[in-house]
Amino acid sequence: MNILCIDDEPGILQMLTQYLTMIGHTVKSADDGEEGWREFNSFQPGFDLVITDVRMPRMTGLQLLGKIRNLGIDTPVAVIAGHSDTEIAEAAREFGILKILAKPFTFEDVDEVLSLLSP
Ligand SMILES: [Mg+2]
Repeated sequence: MNILCIDDEPGILQMLTQYLTMIGHTVKSADDGEEGWREFNSFQPGFDLVITDVRMPRMTGLQLLGKIRNLGIDTPVAVIAGHSDTEIAEAAREFGILKILAKPFTFEDVDEVLSLLSP
């Protein structure tokens, strides 16, 4: 799969990118929502999955999700969150969220997200 990973915490971004690459995926990464949005729009084949942190400078993960959905694009989006809150629940209802990855998450949690997309 082509996967876009976005997180402002370098450790999490690196862990995700390395793991997903190791198990055979093509990964693009960005460290805030604005850069993620640019990457989302410029990557030609398009992404099969976006994994984005919620709390980030410049543009949050939920703002990014809204922008993607407002284009009519239904790419699955999983969000990384410190804790679930009403804002996330609302975005999930309005825009659809594949899965909420609660920090700290494990490789098994990442595998679970991927398993939701394989037939
Ligand atoms: Mg963050």
